[in-house]
Amino acid sequence: MTKDYTRQYWEDLLAKARPEGRHFIDGAYTAAATGKTFLRPRPMDGQPGTEIARGDAEDINLAVAAARAAFARGVWRTKEPLEKKKIMLKWADLIRQHAEELALLETLDVGKPIMASLNVDVRLCADGIQYYAEMIDKLYDEIAPTGPNARALVRKVPIGVIGAITPWNYPLIIDAWKLGPAIAAGNSVVLKPAEQSSLSALRLAALGHEAGLPAGVLNVVTGYGEETGKPLALHMDVDMIAFTGSTEVGKLIMGYAAQSNIKRVALELGGKSPIVVFADSDLDAAASAAAWGCFYNSGETCHASTRLIVERSVQDTLVEKIKAVTAREITLAHPFDMSAQIGALIEESHLQKVLGMISDGLASGGRRAFGAERVLDDTGGYYVSPGVIADVSNDMPIARNEIFGPVLVSIPFDTEQEALSIANDTIYGLAGAVFTSDMNRAHRFSEAIHAGTVWVNTYDMSNFATPFGGFKQSGFGRDRSVHAIDKYCDYKTIWQQFG
Ligand code: NAP
Repeated sequence: MTKDYTRQYWEDLLAKARPEGRHFIDGAYTAAATGKTFLRPRPMDGQPGTEIARGDAEDINLAVAAARAAFARGVWRTKEPLEKKKIMLKWADLIRQHAEELALLETLDVGKPIMASLNVDVRLCADGIQYYAEMIDKLYDEIAPTGPNARALVRKVPIGVIGAITPWNYPLIIDAWKLGPAIAAGNSVVLKPAEQSSLSALRLAALGHEAGLPAGVLNVVTGYGEETGKPLALHMDVDMIAFTGSTEVGKLIMGYAAQSNIKRVALELGGKSPIVVFADSDLDAAASAAAWGCFYNSGETCHASTRLIVERSVQDTLVEKIKAVTAREITLAHPFDMSAQIGALIEESHLQKVLGMISDGLASGGRRAFGAERVLDDTGGYYVSPGVIADVSNDMPIARNEIFGPVLVSIPFDTEQEALSIANDTIYGLAGAVFTSDMNRAHRFSEAIHAGTVWVNTYDMSNFATPFGGFKQSGFGRDRSVHAIDKYCDYKTIWQQFG
């Protein structure tokens, strides 16, 4: 039965909430070794948020030592697969039982609508943990072909201590994408959430512990990237960094791995995904996909459909349709408002960056078709209305750099060849889409767009069975699907000779 939620319901829950802001190390909440904390304003109204432990290398050392000790003792790694599965399934259940609390924490931190946090982010987080729990007792190792007097076992073994560094745009979902397969494979983890979004990660770890994850298997150290993420990535006793974030920081992570112990890295980085629309397509479907693909989560989505590459003859019609879909379906409002489909941007500095990119796009010759303006400033929060800047060319900064706001740029084209070359003319390769009624062209484009995911006549369809990640400077390694397990395992061969 679904509850009849109201804004007042969430205000009341907030009044009672006492979020935890200390690290979670070796099965317990722990203040930073220095005793330092930091405070961040809430995106929805600019009011001060929760005090968060400001970690540094000392806290990272403690968390890595706890993770290593748990791995060495084998308290999790060597547990019966069925037992491990039950514990992770219980963790998923606890996430569902605490869905309202987790949704509140997520919305307080990142400003997305509370109903999206509840119905999308918390749900997908629990589903992600469950997906990998269910795999635990279904994975087999291999026996390699050999001569008659020998046996060679090819074992898939956990890597050891994984450092997970995550961004603020979908904290619960991306944490689950990393924790699910890493822990299911038998590793220990030290998670460093983004400084903007610590609360849900801390609660997630405590729920895992409550479900039965032994102390030290999952640790969370909060703080700034330079002060906590960097020492984690440079740590000599961390075996792998699973990173999601910007391409800029991803490059630093590769450097830290090389400077320290050649730890392996997996990088899920930025995007500037094209959505190519031909005049022969269903323009209503294309308009809906372009609007939702770009504006959902206020455009703070790595694979957002940020570049609309549209056949010139239908640009104006399509942009009008996008405007109509946006007005009809994508309500921007306070995140506790039940009508909100999109909420606030993450912080003041990001708001200013987005507004600056819009001004720059207009100054370079782009035309504001609608929206893309600061709104609701009387709330004290950071809101930009969804909008389209049309007549953009692909060499403008607004077409090349991630905006990470609800701003779609429209780039007209005249020929199929030109459309493809614009689509691939980017340093990124995370995702892309083509809209056309010509199935031959659909096949050609789905093969030729150089991206980890390509959609045909739709956008942003996904489930756990499909790998997610990028080509080019969008990174390497894949989250989700059975293949994500491989990322957190190594192969070990054991030879045995017999008479
Ligand atoms: P970010 O600035 O790169 O930060 C990501 C994480 O790295 C944060 O936890 C951050 O901590 C940490 N960090 C920053 N500097 C570091 C350093 N020198 N050493 C180690 N860690 C460091 O990215 P963001 O702004 O949080 O997230 C937005 C970006 O993530 C966008 O580019 C988006 O496209 C990308 N993204 C990609 C995917 C994908 O699957 N491909 C998914 C979601 C987001 P602090 O927050 O404390 O600085």
